[in-house]
Amino acid sequence: MTLIDAPDVSASLPVTEGGVLPPWPLVALVHLQAGILVLDSAGKVVFVNEWFLKRCGKSAADLVGRTLVDAFGGQVTANFSRRLALCQQTGFPAMLSHSLHAPPLPLYMPHLVGHPPAMLAQTVHIMPMGKWTALRHDQAYTLVQVTDVTPTVRRESLLRTRADEMQMMARVDALTGVGNRRAFAEALETEVKAAIRAGTTLGLLMMDIDYFKPYNDHYGHPAGDQCLREVAGLLQRVVRRPRDRLARYGGEEFVVLLPGTPLEGVLEVGREVIEQIRLLRLPHVARQGGDIVTLSIGAASIQPRHLDDGGTLLRKADDALYEAKASGRNRLCYAPVAQTDAATS
Ligand code: GH3
Ligand code: MG
Ligand code: MG
Repeated sequence: MTLIDAPDVSASLPVTEGGVLPPWPLVALVHLQAGILVLDSAGKVVFVNEWFLKRCGKSAADLVGRTLVDAFGGQVTANFSRRLALCQQTGFPAMLSHSLHAPPLPLYMPHLVGHPPAMLAQTVHIMPMGKWTALRHDQAYTLVQVTDVTPTVRRESLLRTRADEMQMMARVDALTGVGNRRAFAEALETEVKAAIRAGTTLGLLMMDIDYFKPYNDHYGHPAGDQCLREVAGLLQRVVRRPRDRLARYGGEEFVVLLPGTPLEGVLEVGREVIEQIRLLRLPHVARQGGDIVTLSIGAASIQPRHLDDGGTLLRKADDALYEAKASGRNRLCYAPVAQTDAATS
């Protein structure tokens, strides 16, 4: 390996035993844990360090005296070649960061047995070294420094995954695994906006388990929790369209948002829930008027026109649920469709 003519920096270097100075600049460049290349003004390699050679799988003899494109072909990105040429023309440095650019050079992780070679995530600095008149007739050299940012990229990706998981968990009801109230509130806001834009209807079912307090009192709280899980599972099976959103709205209350569904469709889903819960036959001997778990359901559907119409939809479904409770439970009641909605649904 050759080092181009460098200024004499020996005065600033420590004196070793016996007064012999190791060639510190060379030692540093050769052993640096980053890739170092020095290119002449024609882009030909005049110096390459061990780190770089180890990761590109070539010898110094393969590279010195050749341009990188000559040595690596199309594996050097066009972006790198363009930025190198620009740096040589203008004398301004350039940086290719891993987050904005594909890996500029074909450098791979040191080989692990049984693993396919993995390309390094790289941040590459291209820096002009200025003209040294002592050598080669005003030749302008360029230093290319490659940093392996793979560990940083991995850490970022892990943190992003964790953040995504936490975001997701913040919207899931821990007991039943269905969406929680926050997820529902966000879905309602999104779907109200979508329905306003598309001029479509938005349906809602609000469901409440009948006589659930006596259920807990009789079977115990853990059994009550299990009952909630079973009801949530049943609702999940009944609610099938990808955009339908099921959520646990409160203690033993569930909601289903049904985008693009007029009242008749909402009622169909509601009737199916009543039927399926009847077939499930979850025992509930502590209730009035029966011996299995049942639900009361309020249904509504509107064509939203304003952003706060989600509140109107909730109120209508809640009123209908109140009516279902008041008129005997284990039934489906619905809010009448407003004239303005009836005309367009
Ligand atoms: P109604 O038929 O009028 O709905 O009567 P209810 O007894 O179901 O209504 P109420 O609102 O009085 O009782 C709801 C009960 O739900 C009270 C509470 O103990 C129970 N509950 C709320 N959250 C949970 C929970 O996470 N687990 C269990 N096991 N019970 C819960
Ligand atoms: Mg309740
Ligand atoms: Mg209840």
